[in-house]
Amino acid sequence: MELSASALANFKSYASLRTKAVHAGRSQFASLGVHAPPIDLSTTYPFTDLNEAGASLDHLVEGHASAPNPVYARLYNPTTARFEEALAELEDAEAAVAYSSGMAALTAVLLAVSAEAKHVVAVRPIYGTSDHLLNSGLLPIESTWTTADTIAGAIRPDTGLVMIETPANPTMKLVDIRACVQQAGDIPVLVDSTFATPVLQQPLKQGAAMVLHSATKYLGGHGDVIAGVVATSEAWAARLRQIRIVTGALLHPLAAYLLHRGLPTLPLRVRAAQESAQELVQRLKSYPSIKRVYHPGLEADEADLLRRQMNGSGTMLAFDIEGGYEAAASVLRHVKMMTPAVSLGSVDTLIQHPAGLTHRVVSKEGLAEGGISDGLIRLSVGLEDVDDIWYDLVQAIDAAIEQTRPLKIRV
Ligand SMILES: *Cc1c(COP(=O)(O)O)cnc(C)c1O
Repeated sequence: MELSASALANFKSYASLRTKAVHAGRSQFASLGVHAPPIDLSTTYPFTDLNEAGASLDHLVEGHASAPNPVYARLYNPTTARFEEALAELEDAEAAVAYSSGMAALTAVLLAVSAEAKHVVAVRPIYGTSDHLLNSGLLPIESTWTTADTIAGAIRPDTGLVMIETPANPTMKLVDIRACVQQAGDIPVLVDSTFATPVLQQPLKQGAAMVLHSATKYLGGHGDVIAGVVATSEAWAARLRQIRIVTGALLHPLAAYLLHRGLPTLPLRVRAAQESAQELVQRLKSYPSIKRVYHPGLEADEADLLRRQMNGSGTMLAFDIEGGYEAAASVLRHVKMMTPAVSLGSVDTLIQHPAGLTHRVVSKEGLAEGGISDGLIRLSVGLEDVDDIWYDLVQAIDAAIEQTRPLKIRV
């Protein structure tokens, strides 16, 4: 079948995410005469007419996405703007705004909210530092913790945001985005979708107002960029750009280049690692000394939600080992190929201990509410051969069990 010229020109409306990921943010390349994203490292931009430069400055400071003259790189950078355009396309959002880290992105959202409202309702568990930021009193906001089904009751006249994370860190618990949006009523819902990526979940389509990614993780994908991004409506994006201009939490153009470079392989990376994660989950479920395995949709009551909300269960898993902290620490000591490190979404498999590291700042009640036990180990499955990951994991588990049971009698 031949495609008409208009259908070709309009390919974005029907292209699959895998195709979009390859072409997103590259629409100007033909007119620029380039094949790879150009990197613009200018900190300042020459002007020819003072009035025009002044008008551009006003335009950007009001929160517009671009202006004829960028004036100064804290206001606009074309390399970063191209990554934002690409990410917005993958989330089916009007716009995206990128920051120097995921936490800078969350801070910008909270500051934008605090201009008009002082109260945030949030559902546990969420990323440890996000939990801490909401609880710490460092920002001019107050927060109330709820469960997904009690959001409506926690909303006050001064509530400006509902925040959820799904799949949640580190237990991979799914939160029903649609149900939360319904409970939130007029209040905008922010979804931290870092663990899902736009490949597996598009929260804006489920009614969320904003979707946040720590781009440090899968979007970067190679463990060499710290970045954050929020995909949202143009109205929210304008406020977020204004915050970025005055707080300066910019995404550097070299980092934006690396992020944009990684996007075409994002769907392939996520699918390949997901396949391995699902295999590892099945093997761990029946392995001795493993009390429980956590992975999206694994519990029977989550299977339906997984189908409604996501295109796959993702690449993250966690498991609870008998013997608590000592056994978990011993597993981490014994891994030979996997990288014992925090973070996730890299090409290599990363293994870490949430209670001891990423969720250290979370209060005891917070850990209990989130189901984060002392024996919980989290795995970000990478792109190695699944049998090699399995071999490394079980030899470390076996060694840990042997070590934490010194009195075992041998015959
Ligand atoms: C890592 C992470 C963050 C914070 O992002 P940084 O880029 O480290 O600032 C927020 N949310 C989730 C789910 C994360 O995994």
